[in-house]
Amino acid sequence: MQINVAQQLKSPLGDIRYYSIDETSREGSRIRGEVKLVRTNRSILVTGQLRTVIESTCSRCLEAFECPLEFEMEEEYFPTSDILSGLAVPVSEEVDDFIIGGDHILDLNEAVRQNILIGLPSKPLCQVGCAGLCQKCGYNLNYGLCHCLGY
Ligand SMILES: [Zn+2]
Ligand SMILES: [Zn+2]
Repeated sequence: MQINVAQQLKSPLGDIRYYSIDETSREGSRIRGEVKLVRTNRSILVTGQLRTVIESTCSRCLEAFECPLEFEMEEEYFPTSDILSGLAVPVSEEVDDFIIGGDHILDLNEAVRQNILIGLPSKPLCQVGCAGLCQKCGYNLNYGLCHCLGY
């Protein structure tokens, strides 16, 4: 998920470009969706609607399942060098800023990884109304009832 923004950095303020994403993240998840890049006076502002599927574990029955996840992102990327002069641009010290290196490549990987972490459900469920485990024998009640419950 890397976009060369050299041309856009040369474009006037407000220049907008759209990119479709269909790539595999470093963590191995397929990421799909659209991002919009806007040239601002100091940066490239990236907004996007993305979706993926995460390997997750149900918080009730403890079975592994594939959890679909949709998330929105909005991140600002600051160039570290001036596209026309090639001179270094002072970059702010804020840790959560993203930068565009001297190769003018805007790398979405880290921002996507962070947005996935934020978007993960704290108590994922394999299905709405997952029946969970029997508290006595641990049987997965999604597969039916166990002997403890009189069957
Ligand atoms: Zn479950
Ligand atoms: Zn049981």
